[in-house]
Amino acid sequence: MRYSFLSLLRNGLSGQSGWKPAWRDASPKPSYDVIIVGGGGHGLATAYYLASQHGIRNVAVIEKGYIGSGNAGRNTTIIRSNYLLPGNEPFYEFSMKLWEGLEQELNYNAMVSQRGILNLYHSDAQRDAYARRGNAMRLNGADSELLDTEGVRAMYPFLDFANARFPIRGGLLQRRAGTARHDAVVWGYARGADRLGVDIIQNCEVTGLIREGDVVTGVQTTCGEIRAGKVGLAVAGSSSKLAAMAGMRLPIESHVLQAFVSEGLKPLIDGVITFGAGHFYISQSDKGGLVFGGDIDGYNSYAQRGNLPVVEDVCEGGMALMPRIGRLRLLRMWGGIMDMSMDGSPIIDHAPLPGLYLNAGWCYGGFKATPASGWCFAHLLAKDEPHATGTAFRLDRFRTGHLIDEKGVGAQPNLH
Ligand SMILES: Cc1cc2nc3c(=O)[nH]c(=O)nc-3n(C[C@H](O)[C@H](O)[C@H](O)COP(=O)(O)OP(=O)(O)OC[C@H]3O[C@@H](n4cnc5c(N)ncnc54)[C@H](O)[C@@H]3O)c2cc1C
Repeated sequence: MRYSFLSLLRNGLSGQSGWKPAWRDASPKPSYDVIIVGGGGHGLATAYYLASQHGIRNVAVIEKGYIGSGNAGRNTTIIRSNYLLPGNEPFYEFSMKLWEGLEQELNYNAMVSQRGILNLYHSDAQRDAYARRGNAMRLNGADSELLDTEGVRAMYPFLDFANARFPIRGGLLQRRAGTARHDAVVWGYARGADRLGVDIIQNCEVTGLIREGDVVTGVQTTCGEIRAGKVGLAVAGSSSKLAAMAGMRLPIESHVLQAFVSEGLKPLIDGVITFGAGHFYISQSDKGGLVFGGDIDGYNSYAQRGNLPVVEDVCEGGMALMPRIGRLRLLRMWGGIMDMSMDGSPIIDHAPLPGLYLNAGWCYGGFKATPASGWCFAHLLAKDEPHATGTAFRLDRFRTGHLIDEKGVGAQPNLH
């Protein structure tokens, strides 16, 4: 059913009894044209665009838990396109543009809120680096503004500008950036895909790949064997596990990233702020809780929970930036499994085995990429060639040396 003011009115007057489930609980068919493994944002967006852009509707999304139970439902919801490098910036700006029309396209309120992101700088060198980044953004059609101290003070007077170690000298502002409701993005894509005929199969784990010779022709699952013309992996933190089923070792390590939510406050922070002298970022949810995070836990893990040293580190970053949150109570925290690639950038490519396709390596920045990732992965699956904005995200770049090392830290997944 279509959501509209009229449908709200009609259901309001009829005791809310007319709403239909947003998607069907599908049982697997024996075979599909395309199977997408992973019912996170990327898998569902891919299925949606396969159906809506390429007319490929005989598609299943197979999810081992419930959709959105992975990183899609665990992230801190920031969307932005403030990247520097040629391989990345056009792709993330393309994603930003898709975000801007997403709710109308899906007929679903994903609470996309372009409340702006401000990256603070604390030294002259950092200002110069941000100026360069801002210019790269503008060259790719994104918006950026470089603020001085007074510009930042006008927005957020409560920050610790005179901090002895990390004085705030200004910030790089992207006003079109912001946040989106992560669960709603998953639900919106699921509903959109379902309406176009895609089967969303939950509580069904892929346990192996079916091969005829080298060609991947389906998946073994806890619900039985399912055949497919093509199999796309969009399993984020589990990418290396799924690739191992195909005998592949990916240039990816899995690490935990934690997120934190405080008790509710009156409106205080109306945008997203990132600290430039440590890893800390913060925004405020519409319910009032401060939502914040920082570094990944530095060790490899498939656990969806983190450890205390990073909690301490994140809270120290917060205190250095805005000491007034010192008496705030932490309400809850959790972790997600990050697919950290060796250069910090993603992979959207064929796998070495025919019939198998990869969407992985999103590190901790994949939520903002959801629409463009789905769009480009669907393009690759449908046409067997990369979409124009995703050509740099090749798997063989780690062999040929064409890395997209946004942070310039080398093959150090724990530092990206
Ligand atoms: C704490 C935290 C904060 C973050 N903050 C941001 C942010 O502010 N901005 C941003 O851009 N990004 C952020 N990210 C990163 C972002 O969430 C991820 O990069 C992105 O969600 C990954 O894509 P996905 O949504 O498809 O992944 P997921 O939601 O993890 O989807 C993968 C799915 O695959 C399923 N799966 C795995 N193995 C199997 C199997 N064998 N069979 C079937 N299904 C399987 C999983 O259950 C999961 O549902 C954050 C992540 C975390 C954890």
